[in-house]
Amino acid sequence: MKRLEELVRPNIWALKPYSTARDEYAGGEISTWLDANESPYDNGLNRYPDPHQRELKQRIARMKGVRERQVFLGNGSDEAIDLPYRIFCMPGRDNAVSIAPTYGMYRVAADINDVEMREVPLGNDFALPVDALLAACDERTKLLWICSPNNPTGNAFPAAEIERLVRAFDGMVILDEAYIDFADGPGFLPRLDEFPNLIILQTFSKAWGMAGVRLGMAFAAEPVAELMARVKYPYNINCLAQATVAERLATDISAQVAEIRAERRRMAGALAACGAIERVYPSDANFLLVRTPAPDRLYDALIAAGVIVRNRSRVRGCEGCLRITIGRPEENDRMLRTVENFRP
Ligand code: PMP
Repeated sequence: MKRLEELVRPNIWALKPYSTARDEYAGGEISTWLDANESPYDNGLNRYPDPHQRELKQRIARMKGVRERQVFLGNGSDEAIDLPYRIFCMPGRDNAVSIAPTYGMYRVAADINDVEMREVPLGNDFALPVDALLAACDERTKLLWICSPNNPTGNAFPAAEIERLVRAFDGMVILDEAYIDFADGPGFLPRLDEFPNLIILQTFSKAWGMAGVRLGMAFAAEPVAELMARVKYPYNINCLAQATVAERLATDISAQVAEIRAERRRMAGALAACGAIERVYPSDANFLLVRTPAPDRLYDALIAAGVIVRNRSRVRGCEGCLRITIGRPEENDRMLRTVENFRP
């Protein structure tokens, strides 16, 4: 890895972040809050939220087995996807590399930030193209995006291959583990301390069932997490989100995750037996990617039955494919009945 100072944009390295009224409050017995131009009338939301989300970060750090200063919280993963471009990439000069197909926001955020995105196609059976990814990098490549389990292909990549990439690349690797709770292994979080150039993304939107609250997590070495915190909007996580997630962290999600995994197995078998389905790709996520000779017509038939899936057939590398989220058993059965009765 290059030195962090060489990787970070000079204006960000030199940034003096906005200091909120609450940054200047060092603790103590305050009963009268006249520092932040808030309304004094208590309605549960009249005060600004903690800009550093200290309590929530402490709890998340404990749950994940990392240090609090390795945690960044964002307004969904989307914020944590945008920030690395703003921190590391000079618009119009630097570039990023990603696998393809993968989650679309890496490219959208690159385009917004005027950063060239170099997409490297996955190999046979959606294998991680380690050497081709490294070959696509040059001295202006600051970010390398890997999503595992990958959206929309569903597969997790072997840890040894991800590790080889992280060790060989001298910029920052962003490993998006949004779906890791549905996979077999623990992912890379337990090994975070081994990799100073790794940012791991996770989210409360999938296994935790809180897509509506918009809370994404990034885990990284302290200096990197600190840079993300300096560049974010001061109050990026609102009071309701901080309180709701803090309260729900005690929930045991293992039964729901187990049901989704069992349903994934059941649906993979049942869909593979359907005449309309040529292939069900192996999945480590909460969705299945299936290939059919008539993706648009099957999509329309599902819509007519009141079932919406994601038509990925126009994505390069996913020709003929629909991506089907695993729902509750009765929802999956409704989807399955339509696929079973469909004649391509
Ligand atoms: N990463 C991946 C790989 C995703 O598929 C998604 C959602 N589709 C996200 C991140 C977005 O997560 P969030 O809701 O936390 O913004």
